[in-house]
Amino acid sequence: MSFLGTPVYDLLIIGGGPAGATAALYGARAGLKTLVIDKGLTAGAAGKAGQIVNFPGLGPISGPDLVRRIRKQAASFGAEFVTDKVLRVDLSTDPRQVWAGQGVYQGRALIIATGSMGRSRYLPGEERLVGRGVSYCATCDAAFFRDREVAVLGNNDEAVEEALTLARFAARVHFLSPTAELHASPELAQGLSDHPKVAIRLSTQVEEILGNERVEGVRIVSPEGKEVLPVAGVFVYLQGNVPVTDFLEGQLPLGEGGCLRVDEHFQTAVPGVFAVGDVLCRHLKQAVVAAAEGAVAAMAADRYLHGRAQLRPDWSRS
Ligand SMILES: Cc1cc2nc3c(=O)[nH]c(=O)nc-3n(C[C@H](O)[C@H](O)[C@H](O)COP(=O)(O)OP(=O)(O)OC[C@H]3O[C@@H](n4cnc5c(N)ncnc54)[C@H](O)[C@@H]3O)c2cc1C
Repeated sequence: MSFLGTPVYDLLIIGGGPAGATAALYGARAGLKTLVIDKGLTAGAAGKAGQIVNFPGLGPISGPDLVRRIRKQAASFGAEFVTDKVLRVDLSTDPRQVWAGQGVYQGRALIIATGSMGRSRYLPGEERLVGRGVSYCATCDAAFFRDREVAVLGNNDEAVEEALTLARFAARVHFLSPTAELHASPELAQGLSDHPKVAIRLSTQVEEILGNERVEGVRIVSPEGKEVLPVAGVFVYLQGNVPVTDFLEGQLPLGEGGCLRVDEHFQTAVPGVFAVGDVLCRHLKQAVVAAAEGAVAAMAADRYLHGRAQLRPDWSRS
């Protein structure tokens, strides 16, 4: 299937943390038309790392600053970055199709670098009410909640951006953060607290999403005690510590705990589809390791695209 008017990238990268951003740097420098799709810097592990002191040659540096530096370097070689959340992929087509909140992206080779901050458990009521008021994509579903009250569960850049999208439609957005502080960029957090339609509740846990046929409310516990908020929609952006592979919908075999298995060139079971960083099985969760894997995978993608037998070192082209 082809989507007219949608550019086809040589290399599509899902996730722009240390692994994905470094893959973009190497891919773009190798002359590949490269796009990184990332849902928000603080949605990843690097975005949460306050201080990294063991990245060779750099530091101490905050995780977000490290990623910004790698992304800037990648962009200087022509890599493009877009803020969007990948919801679904089709690995069987050529080019591969990637569906995200704002549209469809196409790439001849694909690198998965989505990290390991996914959730392993649903909230009570969540699974039953998916598509009936429970959503994970405000860009996709916000318009269904025009003039209604909704809740957003989360605390990172992604949750804040989605809440601001919802506020364009909803009558009121209850932003329920499980933590005492938001883990979003200061600009986004300010935009959220300034918004007249948004009510921020900190240190607030959701006990249950309520409703029979559709969402009717959420039962919460906050420092003020227990209460039920009557909302028609619940948008969930909570995080855990399992590999983020939900968007693959079974198209790649998963190892124990949902991690991705790869060969020595970081290629998955599907030729031309690679995976790097914390999403992998048997991976040392460190920024320098994720970055190195991104470099190797980008070179392997270059080899895949150009039918070369060997990986080509980056310095051999300059
Ligand atoms: C608190 C903390 C402290 C740490 N301290 C150190 C340290 O001192 N030294 C060190 O080396 N390492 C440290 N780490 C580990 C390090 O941050 C990780 O190993 C590294 O960030 C992994 O990189 P990654 O690119 O694989 O994943 P991540 O950094 O998790 O990046 C994944 C990216 O994928 C994006 N993404 C996920 N799902 C989607 C989707 N569906 N659509 C679009 N984008 C998506 C996310 O937005 C994110 O930007 C720390 C981690 C934490 C949490």
